Amino acid sequence: KTFDEFNIAPDLIENLKKCGYSEPTPIQKQAVPVMLEGRQLLSCAPTGSGKTAAFLLPIINGLKGPQKKGFRALILCPTRELAKQTQRECLRLSEGREFRVHVISKIKKALTQYGPKSNKKYDILIATPNRICYLLKQDPPALSLANIEWVVIDEADKLFESGNRGFREQLDEIIAACTLTTKKIAMFSATYTPVVAKWCVRNMKGLVRVTV
Ligand code: AMP
Repeated sequence: KTFDEFNIAPDLIENLKKCGYSEPTPIQKQAVPVMLEGRQLLSCAPTGSGKTAAFLLPIINGLKGPQKKGFRALILCPTRELAKQTQRECLRLSEGREFRVHVISKIKKALTQYGPKSNKKYDILIATPNRICYLLKQDPPALSLANIEWVVIDEADKLFESGNRGFREQLDEIIAACTLTTKKIAMFSATYTPVVAKWCVRNMKGLVRVTV
């Protein structure tokens, strides 16, 4: 499969070429069609496999309809560095579309920026679960996830690992705040871990697994 054979918009194919990506990596070949079909995904692929573009491409491709209020896609990352890196990749892949791709860096600013009184329209939010939960637990919540169509959990094995024991509760809180009944989840993990798999089976109806 080449990029041209994916059912994605021509401007995105152009952006891929500008990035110097001549053909999809194995994980992209497997994961992109699944997400384009709107199916939930558990993907096991190491860092360096092109996993970031694998989830960004279908999301960017899908966000072309009329813009609603708030964010439409949420990407959860274990660290702020990874969030920044993902933002850079997202801006390159969505060039020309003027997407608003936000990373929460200053929490004080975020407290007033995304609250219920904000009528602003955004596209993609990339953040650590701690930041999202901090905003959600304000009274009233300082972030609305009511229009989220896709939730991506990147480096899930790191997020679920024992050092972050609170992550499962945080994740449940975040998923509960994404109230669209049509929302989809895509989980990316470097390794296959039983904890991650168990969560996916419980929370992601009709999920497709891909491994490279
Ligand atoms: P990731 O696994 O997402 O961290 O990506 C690893 C590196 O591969 C990044 O520097 C990407 O820019 C690059 N990359 C992603 N997709 C492709 C592709 N199809 N062809 C060549 N390089 C790619």
